[in-house]
Amino acid sequence: MRISKAAVILILTALTVGCSIPQKQTGVYYAMDTVMEVTIYDSADETLTADIGKELKRLERLFSVTDEESEIYRINHSGGQPVEISAETAELVEYSLRMSESTGGALDITLYPILKEWGFTTGEYRIPAADRIEELLTARGEPVISDGMVTIPNGTELDLGAVAKGYTGDVLAEMLHERGVTSALLNLGGNIHAVGENADKASPWRVGIADPFGDGNIGILELADMAAVTSGSYERYFIGEDGKHYCHIIDPESGFPADNGLVSVTVVGTSGVMCDSLSTALFVMGEREAIDYWRNNSGFELILVDSDGNISVTEGLASLFTVTAGFPPPIYVYRNKPVL
Ligand code: AMP
Ligand code: MG
Repeated sequence: MRISKAAVILILTALTVGCSIPQKQTGVYYAMDTVMEVTIYDSADETLTADIGKELKRLERLFSVTDEESEIYRINHSGGQPVEISAETAELVEYSLRMSESTGGALDITLYPILKEWGFTTGEYRIPAADRIEELLTARGEPVISDGMVTIPNGTELDLGAVAKGYTGDVLAEMLHERGVTSALLNLGGNIHAVGENADKASPWRVGIADPFGDGNIGILELADMAAVTSGSYERYFIGEDGKHYCHIIDPESGFPADNGLVSVTVVGTSGVMCDSLSTALFVMGEREAIDYWRNNSGFELILVDSDGNISVTEGLASLFTVTAGFPPPIYVYRNKPVL
C-alpha cells in the first residue's frame, strides 16, 4: 500500500496532538492527614491533577486544625475574640451545626479538647480520668457566626475532621464536572467519590467496602455520581491498659469513644458532606438509632457492620451491594418494614 504525502502529514499531526487525546491521569496527594488519590479517565487537560493539588492545599488552609495559618487554627487560638472567616468555612461550620442538631448532638465539631486528652491528635494515647473528661465537656460552648465572623467561647476548639473530607470531595467532583470530566474516581483517604460512570462509560464504578476485621472487602458497591463514606472503629484506635479497644470517634454525651456494637458505618449518597457527617454521627448513635434516622430522613443509604460481623444494608442499596464470598448474607432493612 502506498501512503500519500498528505496521509503522512495527517498521521504525524495525529501523533503530535496525541497528548491531547483523553487518557488516564492519576494524582496522588497527602492532605488532611491522609493519602488521597484521584484518577481521571477521560480528560486531555494535563493541568487537572496539579489544580486538584492546589485546591487541596487551599481547603487545608481553611480547615486544618494543626496548620497555624488555617482559619480553624486561628479560631481555636482566638482567646474568645471574634475571627474573620471565609464564606466557605462559615458554610461548613454552619452545615455541621445543623447536622449536629439533626442528629441529636451525635455529630459535634467541638470535641477537639477531648480528642487531645485521649491522645488521638498526637498518637500518645491514654485513658483520661472521668472527671477530667467531664470538666472538658462542660467547658465547651457553641460557636456563633455572624457577619463573616466566628466567635467561640474559651474552652472550645473546633475540629472539622468528621466533615472536611466529604466537603472536599464535593468541591473536587464539581470542579471536575465543570472542566468536562465525565469519568473519574476520587479516593480521599477512604472516602470515595465516583464522578460519572466507569471508564467504559456504560457501567457504574465498582468499589470495595473495607472489611473492619481484616484486609479485604466485605463486599462490592456499584456507584455512579455518588459518594460512599465509611467511618469505622478499626481506622484509628488503641488498646487501653484495661485491654479495651478505644476508637477515634467520640460519643459527645460521655466524652468516651463510641462503643455500641457497630464497627463500621458506610453512608452512600450524592452529597459527600452529608455522607461524611452522617457516617460519624450514625456511628455514634448505634445501629437501632441509625436505622431510625435513615427511616426519618432521605438522600442517603447505609451499610452497617456490627461487632459480630452482621452486615445490614438499607433497601436502596439492595441491588447495588454484593457481599464477598465467605461473609454472611446481608440483612436488608426496609423503610416501612421493621426488622430490628
Ligand atoms: P470520620 O472518620 O469522618 O468518622 O471522622 C472522625 C474524626 O472526627 C475524628 O478523627 C475526630 O477528629 C472527629 N470526631 C470524633 N468524634 C466526633 C463526633 N462525635 N462528632 C464530630 N467529629 C468527631
Ligand atoms: Mg465523617
